[in-house]
Amino acid sequence: MKRYLLFLNLIIACWAVAFAQESVKLTGTVVGTAESVDYSTNALSYTVNTAAMAHDGDLSTCFASYARSYTYTGLDLCDKYVITKVGWSPRNDSLGPNRLVLGMFEGANREDFLDAVPLYMITQSCSIGTYGYGEVDCSRGFRYVRYVGPSDARCNVAEVEFYGYRSDGDDSHIGRITNLPTVIIHTVDAEEPYDKEHNIVSQITVLSDDDGGYILEADGTTRLRGNASLQFDKKPYRIKFEKKQHILPDTPAKCKKWTLINNYGDKTLIRNCIAFEVSRIAGMEYTPYCRLVDVVLNGEYKGTYQLCDQVEVNPGRIEIDEMTPEDISGEALTGGYFIEVDAYADQEVSWFNSYSYIPVTIKSPEDDAITSEQRTYIEDHFNDMDHRVYDSKWSGDGSYREILDMPSFIRHFLIGEVCGNPDTYWSTYMSKRRGDDLLRVGPVWDFDLAMDNDSRIYPVNNRSNWIYKSASAAGSMKTFANKVLEADPASTEEIYQIWSQMRFSGLNADYLDEYIDSLVDEINASQALNFKRWPILNRYVHLNPKTYSTYQAAVNDVKSFMRKRITWIDNKLGFDPSGARSVAIDSDAPVEYYNLQGMRVMEPQKGMLLIKRQGAVATKIIY
Ligand code: CA
Repeated sequence: MKRYLLFLNLIIACWAVAFAQESVKLTGTVVGTAESVDYSTNALSYTVNTAAMAHDGDLSTCFASYARSYTYTGLDLCDKYVITKVGWSPRNDSLGPNRLVLGMFEGANREDFLDAVPLYMITQSCSIGTYGYGEVDCSRGFRYVRYVGPSDARCNVAEVEFYGYRSDGDDSHIGRITNLPTVIIHTVDAEEPYDKEHNIVSQITVLSDDDGGYILEADGTTRLRGNASLQFDKKPYRIKFEKKQHILPDTPAKCKKWTLINNYGDKTLIRNCIAFEVSRIAGMEYTPYCRLVDVVLNGEYKGTYQLCDQVEVNPGRIEIDEMTPEDISGEALTGGYFIEVDAYADQEVSWFNSYSYIPVTIKSPEDDAITSEQRTYIEDHFNDMDHRVYDSKWSGDGSYREILDMPSFIRHFLIGEVCGNPDTYWSTYMSKRRGDDLLRVGPVWDFDLAMDNDSRIYPVNNRSNWIYKSASAAGSMKTFANKVLEADPASTEEIYQIWSQMRFSGLNADYLDEYIDSLVDEINASQALNFKRWPILNRYVHLNPKTYSTYQAAVNDVKSFMRKRITWIDNKLGFDPSGARSVAIDSDAPVEYYNLQGMRVMEPQKGMLLIKRQGAVATKIIY
């Protein structure tokens, strides 16, 4: 009898689940942007074209907001529902259907939608008088659901619909915008970050398929970042968590600050990623973590971004001693310092002009913590090096080489040259450790004008001399580089040796082609949306020398640039590439595996796309 009861209960339970999960069209209390526009007068209204008119079942009425962006209409469902499907219908107006493209459906459990995640993004609209539908791929239950109009569309939607079933759901799966990780930022009152000084309180959600499904939800702030890149419509952001986070499971650093690079002028969106791979091949001590992601801000799709380390002193980033205000004498005063030869130094709080007029920003210790002793120490130390270079003290006691770490200076120079970067000496990072006189150069950073993307020096491979000679530099940094790289007789051989090492470590065009192809596979769905959001492939942006009709054409130019550039440097340095090409696999060398972001993979799994390195040979493989 007991067994029968159990069986009966089981049947009832299954029936209840089946019944509960039957999706129905959901109703609730309308929530939405209060201010609408009365198109007959273009005036602000609270009675015409209201948010409720997107839920009245009437295709001749619509919601049109007074503000042009970040406006929404949705429902308070009064209980949690798992959403299975959404529907929409355009405003009865010639622009109606297009105004819905990139419109976003979101679900939340806070009335202010700070915790919202994407349910569905409209990529194909439908005709006036009809409904479009999208399947939702999300197991979490939501009390609040909404439709956020795309940028500049005034929401403009005749009807939105939500389908689902009553359930708290679970977090086993939250759908992303594409295969890439999605970074979702919601700011308080949907305030748009507007400058580099004001940190707007935000909730940040990161979704990825790392480790079979990864969800990070954390409080923080968002502001703009960058210099030239700040001028574009697609803004670069700096996010800062309240607590230190691995923003994705594979980040070496657990930190508060992360950057979202916009790559707006780079139509391939991957120039920085390629340059970072060159940096890893070149053996730079630290190459910033980067990962391609989709970004959603306050319910608006912002495009493909490069999620990246904030370049700063921290474990997993620049690993030097972090100074305290008590470190003002003896060995404690000698480091660590992190500085930047920086054309924009005069816009910073903590900076100096060197002996030969090189502008230098002191990044660490930070401007609100640095003491006058520390400031004097690092300025004097830099000037000591600058003075020695200026006075051509090439060798022996008093050589500039006692202060400038030449291997890192030359690697940094060659990475800039092989990537055709005009900004190598516009911004040059250096760090100094405690108890060590050397200023080490790195990391490399900012390649959006590299790889033939700068009309001032295009085409780079037709030039007979190094790029840095034709490019702008911070103050007199070009003179400094000339003296170190050319006037010092010992440097010629060192440049040749380090280039040889790079070539024998896997820097060759075939490998870069493969690497770029794998990035393109990864980014393909996202770049298509990015260029829907920002239709600029065929427009000149910033210093673009060319425009493109397709994304692939832009990528092909970069591939062919890198191929020619490697040969150009071989020729310039008299390096015979046949040795590098025919380099045999050293079967005694240990085999190491890396992911496409250059992170070491200790336990590769079958089917993983990996870079296999053995001795000097690197190949892309499926494990
Ligand atoms: Ca309606």
